[in-house]
Amino acid sequence: MKIDVETDSRTQFVDITSKVQKAVNDSGITNGIVHVFSMHTTGAITINENADPAVPSDILNTINRVIPWDDNFRHLEGNSAAHIKVSLFGPSETIPINRGRLVLGTWQSVFFCEFDGPRNRKVHLTFLPAS
Ligand code: ZN
Repeated sequence: MKIDVETDSRTQFVDITSKVQKAVNDSGITNGIVHVFSMHTTGAITINENADPAVPSDILNTINRVIPWDDNFRHLEGNSAAHIKVSLFGPSETIPINRGRLVLGTWQSVFFCEFDGPRNRKVHLTFLPAS
């Protein structure tokens, strides 16, 4: 199944934990794993802290400083910075499911990482029940 994610900035972390948990609920799976996959070359998936929203903000500020939007890139579309960031972060995460709940640490959230927004994004979920 797919999750829709709307972003409203060029670079932005969107917490999709509750959407993924709802999809787990709807799937009926109690134990197994869910694979969370961004279907985009300029949007990634990562897991990190959102208890303090300064954490995703600090991550974004740092990655934007390390990989500036303009850096004499050759890609004619002009968004090479976004492509590079996605290759660093990766397009997916795999999360255990136990008793119908995502197995996440106290401080962990699942983020869609927008690197060339604003756009409407699709995140594909694959559920693998434990046998
Ligand atoms: Zn491009």
